Amino acid sequence: MSTCAKCGACSTVCPVFRTSGKESHTARGKLHLLDTLGLEKSSSVFIDIFSACLLCGACAAVCSRKIDINKELLAARNSFSSLAGPHAYEKYLARKLLDYPGSLTGLRILAKTCGKVLGDKLPRDSGLRLRLAPFEGDALPVPDDGQHEEGGAVNINTRASLVWFPGCSARYLFPDILDSCKSLFSQSSFVLQYPDGLACCGLADCAAGDCASAQKKARRNIEVMGATEGPILVTCASCYAHLKKYPELFIHDAHWQTRAEEMALRVMELSEFLENQSVRHSASGTEEEQKLRVFYHDPCHLRHETPSVDKAREQLEKTGEMEVIELPDGPRCCGQGGLFYVAHPDISAAIRDQLVQDVLALKPDVVTSTCSGCLMQWQQGLVAAGSEIKVLHLAQLLKEKNGVEFFLYQFSVIQ
Ligand code: SF4
Ligand code: SF4
Repeated sequence: MSTCAKCGACSTVCPVFRTSGKESHTARGKLHLLDTLGLEKSSSVFIDIFSACLLCGACAAVCSRKIDINKELLAARNSFSSLAGPHAYEKYLARKLLDYPGSLTGLRILAKTCGKVLGDKLPRDSGLRLRLAPFEGDALPVPDDGQHEEGGAVNINTRASLVWFPGCSARYLFPDILDSCKSLFSQSSFVLQYPDGLACCGLADCAAGDCASAQKKARRNIEVMGATEGPILVTCASCYAHLKKYPELFIHDAHWQTRAEEMALRVMELSEFLENQSVRHSASGTEEEQKLRVFYHDPCHLRHETPSVDKAREQLEKTGEMEVIELPDGPRCCGQGGLFYVAHPDISAAIRDQLVQDVLALKPDVVTSTCSGCLMQWQQGLVAAGSEIKVLHLAQLLKEKNGVEFFLYQFSVIQ
């Protein structure tokens, strides 16, 4: 039995409940079902209810009984068949694609080709048009093997290698993010390199309750990154939060848990890394000049699971060229939730569209974030709203503003 006090604090922050109004969608509702029915009664309705969760962590952050709600939900999902629940085959296929993340490059090319052929022929609110929206733009280079120096003002011979985990989306679907990260660091004392053999972080498997697949990917990444030294830069917020939680995947395996802990200590999120480098911003703007109005979208995994890490606002403000604008009621979930948007497209779109509408009222010039899933959701939301406001990864925005330089770094952050 859970220790839920039925206080309802979780209901007030749950983005799914706020949209659907169904008590069964709250953490309290799901815990009550587990307590009263147990997993033996896992009908299709039951499975559907447990899939209706973004795993955003908002409920656990306010829970008066400090219940690890995600852990309870994932244990429940783990007991269901992978092919049960809403849109199960699509979710399963997406996870299988991530077993071979290089195949996402083919998906990107297909999406770009479809976008070019169909173009404006699709109605503005067509589902296909929204899905193609993140792939709009100029032809992008196929990413290289990551083992080569990327050019820049600093002599490569004096630059240290920095182990980099860019995440599958940036590496294979959106290489403009990849290139922006490289370009941002080309003025630094580092060369970004992702080691051969990295796997997907495994967050999608974990969210589906597929612990075995999540552990398999985690072991691979621990092996690959364990053969390197120094900090590990992670430029996708959700990958970062999941890599940090690798030790929790191996609570019954002391050997791998120790190795996971060693790796997790080295992992640093982009804004955290910039903060630790005493980044000097070469701002050219003055008080009189109009600053770029930037809406920074907080990825839920950073906001609720590692709230002390997210330093993006500070980095943006430090440029002197940007003003970070905020929603009156604070940051909100975008509704993407990994594969949640596949399982529950209507709820996901409703959460997204309300957020987009409220942010557009603030009249932003640009929207930025560091989670690839959130960025995709924002791109779709803005297209659905008929807005032409740009959505950029933090590295793209900082690079575009040409506002950062780095001091030499001595690897002093490693404990
Ligand atoms: S994790 Fe998020 S979506 Fe899921 S029950 Fe908690 S608040 Fe709701
Ligand atoms: S906040 Fe925690 S204790 Fe309160 S109802 Fe929700 S799950 Fe139960």
